[in-house]
Amino acid sequence: MDYVLKTNNLCKYYRNFKALNGLKMNVPKGSIYGFVGKNGAGKTTLIRLLCGLQMPTDGDFELYGVKNTDKKISESRSRIGAIVESPSLFPEMTAEENLKYQYRLLGIPDYKGIPELLELVGLADTGKKKAGNFSLGMRQRLGIAIALCGNQDLLILDEPINGLDPQGIIEIRELILKLNHDRNITFIISSHILDELSRIATHYGFIDNGRIVREISAKELENACRKSLSVNVTDTSALARVLDSMGLEYIISDDINAEIFGRPEISELVFALDKEKCRLVSCTEREETLEGFFISLVGGGSNE
Ligand code: ATP
Repeated sequence: MDYVLKTNNLCKYYRNFKALNGLKMNVPKGSIYGFVGKNGAGKTTLIRLLCGLQMPTDGDFELYGVKNTDKKISESRSRIGAIVESPSLFPEMTAEENLKYQYRLLGIPDYKGIPELLELVGLADTGKKKAGNFSLGMRQRLGIAIALCGNQDLLILDEPINGLDPQGIIEIRELILKLNHDRNITFIISSHILDELSRIATHYGFIDNGRIVREISAKELENACRKSLSVNVTDTSALARVLDSMGLEYIISDDINAEIFGRPEISELVFALDKEKCRLVSCTEREETLEGFFISLVGGGSNE
């Protein structure tokens, strides 16, 4: 697998405080990487190191295969677009003027790409309207357009939907999916709104106290969170025969406990077990949410 970012034992200390403490993180190319952690877990610190605003105390990282200590790291960094906290735009300028300003800043000789960028983020019709009069969602989309002026292909978004109304959330979600799909842009998205993140993320990194406590693909997470039935029976080998004949997936934990995936008809299961001289003693439905999974990893609330 190709990785856009790989960090190795990355550490950032502020005096004795370990904001990043041996962080190991792998962001696959083309992924939408949900970066999940409580307040103060170290997310912004990592973003600052990636963008070159601060230096690591120890450890290193590779961006597009280039080590942070290599001279070529600035070329890799030019592929990053980042929006941290709020998008940096000029409220007294129109969307087009904001993009022209960014083009000049980057030394891009002409403005040919601007109409396409405005179209891409759904701001082609904003005309003379000043960015200061935009809705929060429009400002966020303009921020993304600004972050893409240099053809960046890694976008880091810090809490991109904070404060947005439902329509704004849908627009940002669709824009992220479109950019990921059509332009193969990799995203690292930090968010506390786990339900929303779970609609788009292909991979997750859960950070706690400056360390990645778990990295998992959306597929693996789906398996970890899927609905199941925990059953206690008198004989799990009989249960296995029954479940095989019913075509259900399961995991046998020991002689009397098992986890069944999918939704078996309980009366049918009891009847079939009875034929095998096995008794269903108890059963409990289980379904884990992303939030539950996160809390089980790091404990406490997700937005302290
Ligand atoms: P949030 O979701 O609140 O933005 P975060 O995961 O982005 O949290 P960071 O901003 O990376 O967290 O901060 C990690 C820890 O490092 C926090 O406890 C913070 O107080 C501390 N910290 C950050 N910057 C500094 C600094 N310049 N000096 C001292 N401590 C700092």
